[in-house]
Amino acid sequence: MAKVGSESEVCTFCGKTRFKVKSLISGPPGVNICNECIEICNTILLEENRKQQLSAPDSKPIAQNTVPSPTAICTHLDEYVIGQTHAKRVLSVAVHNHYKRLLHQGQSTRGANEVELEKSNVLLIGPTGSGKTLLARTLAKFLDVPFAIGDATTLTEAGYVGEDVENLILKLLQACDFNIEKAQRGIIFIDEIDKIGRTNQNVSITRDVSGEGVQQALLKMLEGTVANVPPQGGRKHPEQQYIAVDTTNILFICGGTFVGLEQIIARRTGRTMIGFDPKTDTGAKIELVEGERNATLLRQVETEDLVQFGMIPELLGRLPVLSVLDPLTEADLKRVMTEPRNAIIRQYQRFFEMEDGSLEFAEDALHELAKKAISRKTGVRALRGLVEELLLDAMFHLPDGTEGRDYQITAAMVRGEKPVKARKKATKVSEKKRTSA
Ligand code: ADP
Repeated sequence: MAKVGSESEVCTFCGKTRFKVKSLISGPPGVNICNECIEICNTILLEENRKQQLSAPDSKPIAQNTVPSPTAICTHLDEYVIGQTHAKRVLSVAVHNHYKRLLHQGQSTRGANEVELEKSNVLLIGPTGSGKTLLARTLAKFLDVPFAIGDATTLTEAGYVGEDVENLILKLLQACDFNIEKAQRGIIFIDEIDKIGRTNQNVSITRDVSGEGVQQALLKMLEGTVANVPPQGGRKHPEQQYIAVDTTNILFICGGTFVGLEQIIARRTGRTMIGFDPKTDTGAKIELVEGERNATLLRQVETEDLVQFGMIPELLGRLPVLSVLDPLTEADLKRVMTEPRNAIIRQYQRFFEMEDGSLEFAEDALHELAKKAISRKTGVRALRGLVEELLLDAMFHLPDGTEGRDYQITAAMVRGEKPVKARKKATKVSEKKRTSA
């Protein structure tokens, strides 16, 4: 058995004596290795492992010829995303078909009679904070494929100041340690796709003013092209070495809020809405049926509405799968706080548990938090900030235990009518537990 070497011994690898190193491990008689050489060996092994992983065919489910069924995908999404039943179904089917298509590529024996299966990129329309990014991210994680998020508003047509469309692919490459094979089967989520609409007024004069150029560049990427990606990112440079990445099998999920789209749909469907009509110069009053904004109207969206909104038809043609997400209601927000696996309240409860404390929220406290979040307009995005703010003092004192460790949050505390204080009785119990431990 190996033992720590005696002082006269030297490291067989680097020749350093026992005095020069922190520790020396002895193997068979006369063979020793010092801590420094062990560290070097470890680095070499790690690097070799990494290289092997990069060159080895993918060992993940997708490459193991198993594509999870749409129901399995949907069930997984249910664990993390509240509501959005339609979007989950649409995505589950689209993603299942996408990867099935990939696996069957080249395996077909039908030759010339083979039906050409086209890629089904997805367009998600829904308000901010309704779960568009979350859906895409959860999918990628479940399938264990590289995932990258980009913002369409930062993209510009080649030659303008800003990011090249290829940078989206670079992000994907970075997500998988530059394994091109893996990147070519990844998922890219492009947010704010509606902001590059033709009719949109851009703020910056250095940007592609029409937005149409960016759509054209994206179009190529969505269709499938060999993108030349600058490894360092940023703008392309003529002398730079590029990494060629084929985007044919990359699944693109685009998201946007498409504010104003409902007016376009309302006009087409003969509905009248009260409100300012941004598409007419007259600013004519149209009748808005409250509550219909997203729910009913947006679901009737057709390509022509999106074209009128400013999207180019070719790009829409490359986004054949479409789903409209509902805005989250107060009831949804309550569920978002408590139900998903990584729900925010669960995360805080875990913090309290780690300090031998406990954290509970009364039903009406959750209701109050949801109400507050909705009034902040950013809905679900406001939740974390609200909870953080609410529990700040409790978290500040928690590790010391001086103020107690067991908290029951009430609606009055959320409304700011009462300070957030630990429960006395429960504190004692928990204190006892700590002192006896
Ligand atoms: P979007 O892309 O639609 O603007 P996100 O997916 O980025 O919204 O949502 C922001 C955060 O809000 C997510 O990380 C998640 O914590 C939470 N969230 C949003 N929608 C949901 C939902 N339907 N279910 C659970 N959590 C959600």
